[in-house]
Amino acid sequence: MNRRDLLKNMSALPVLGAFAGTAKLLPITEEAEGTAGAKDYFKDLGIRTFINAAGTYTFMTGSLMRPEVMTAINYASKEYVLLDELQDKVGERIAQLLKCEYATVTSGAAAAMTLGAAGVITGMDEKKVAALPFLEGTGMKSEVIMQKAHEIAYAHAMQNVGLKIIYIETREELEKAISDKTALMYFLNANNFDGKIQVEEFLQIAQKHNIPTMIDCAADVPPVENLWKYTGMGYDLVCFSGGKGIRGPQSAGLLLGRKKYIQAARLSAPPRGNTIGRGLKVNKEEVLGMLVALETYLATDHAKEWKMWETQIKLISDAVTSVPGITTSVHVPPVANHIPTLHITWDPAKVPATAAQIRETLRKGNPSIEVADGANQHTFNVTTWMLVPGQEKIVAAQLKKVFSETHG
Ligand SMILES: *Cc1c(COP(=O)(O)O)cnc(C)c1O
Repeated sequence: MNRRDLLKNMSALPVLGAFAGTAKLLPITEEAEGTAGAKDYFKDLGIRTFINAAGTYTFMTGSLMRPEVMTAINYASKEYVLLDELQDKVGERIAQLLKCEYATVTSGAAAAMTLGAAGVITGMDEKKVAALPFLEGTGMKSEVIMQKAHEIAYAHAMQNVGLKIIYIETREELEKAISDKTALMYFLNANNFDGKIQVEEFLQIAQKHNIPTMIDCAADVPPVENLWKYTGMGYDLVCFSGGKGIRGPQSAGLLLGRKKYIQAARLSAPPRGNTIGRGLKVNKEEVLGMLVALETYLATDHAKEWKMWETQIKLISDAVTSVPGITTSVHVPPVANHIPTLHITWDPAKVPATAAQIRETLRKGNPSIEVADGANQHTFNVTTWMLVPGQEKIVAAQLKKVFSETHG
C-alpha cells in the first residue's frame, strides 16, 4: 500500500474501530479474567481502551492493578475503619517490609512530596500546619534547594506548601545557598547522572549542614532494592509512586523515612481538614490496595519477570525488523523506568511516514495500541512491562502490519 492509500484508509479506520469493538480480541488471561463478562463501561461511554506498549504514564492512567490488589480493594469497600488507625497500622507494616523507620500511604509521589515538605517545616506544631502555605512571620523555613539539572514539573508539589525553590549547579553553589532559611534539599533520582552532584555526595553535604533531605524515586522500581536503598543510605524522606512499577492504585504513593517528619506530615493529611493536604485524600481502599500491591510486588520473581520482558521485546523487535528499512535497539534507562525499552527507527526513504503518522495508525487500529515518544520524527519506543502477558503478540503483529503497509 502506498502512502496515499494508507492515509485514505486511515480516515476509514475510526469508523471500523467503532463497530468492531476491541475487548473481544484481547486474550483472556489470568489477569484479564476479572473483567470478563462484566458490563463494558468504557465502551458505553464511547471511550477508547488500548494496549499500553508505552509505559507508566499518568495521562494513560498508569498501570493495571493485579488481582490481589483488586481483592483487597473490594474487601475494604465493604467495611468501615478509622482512617488514622488504618494509616498507622499500614504504615507500620510497610516500614517493616521496606526496612525503614516509618511510612505512610499518600495519594501519589507528588502528594508524598507535598506532605513530606509540610512535615519538615511544620514539625508537630498545629498552628504552623494551619498556616501553610503562608510562611511569612511563622518562623518556618522557606527554601528548598535542588540542582538545576533536577528541575522537573513535579517540584511544584513542594511549592504548594509555600517553599521557594533555590536552584544550584555546583557543590560550591550548594554550600553557599544553604542558610537558616533552608528547609529541605531535594534530589531527583532519575536525573542522578545529569547533575554535577550525585546521590551520595548530595546527602553528605546535607548531613554536614544538618539539612533534611528528600529524594524523588517516583518511577524507580525496578529494581526492587530501590525501595530500601535510599532510606538505608540516609535520605530522610523517600517518595515513590504507587501506580507505576509497583502496580498499586494509580492514586496512591509512598512516603518513607524518618518517623518525626512523616508523623508531622500526617498532620497535614486527611482526615484533618484545615490543612494543605486535605485535597490529597487516599481512602481505605487505596491504602489497603497499596499495601497489598507492595506485598505482591515484593513476592514477585523479578528475575523471571525481567526475562519475560526481554523475550517480549525480542519478539516485537524480530517482527518489525523483518520489514526492510526498520532497525531496533534495546536500551535500559539507568535509574527511572529501568526496564528493557525498544527503540524502533526507520529509514524515511523506505517507510515514508513520521512517527506521529504511524502512531496515529496504531491508535486507530483494532485493537488500539499506544507506544512512547522517541528521540525524533522517525523513531518511537516500546516497552512491554505494562502489557497483559500475551498482548506482545498483538503488538508485534500490528506493528509489522502497519510498517509493511506504510512501506513505499
Ligand atoms: C510520576 C512521577 C511523579 C509523580 O508521581 P504520582 O505518583 O503520579 O504523583 C513525581 N516525580 C517523578 C520523577 C515521577 O516520575
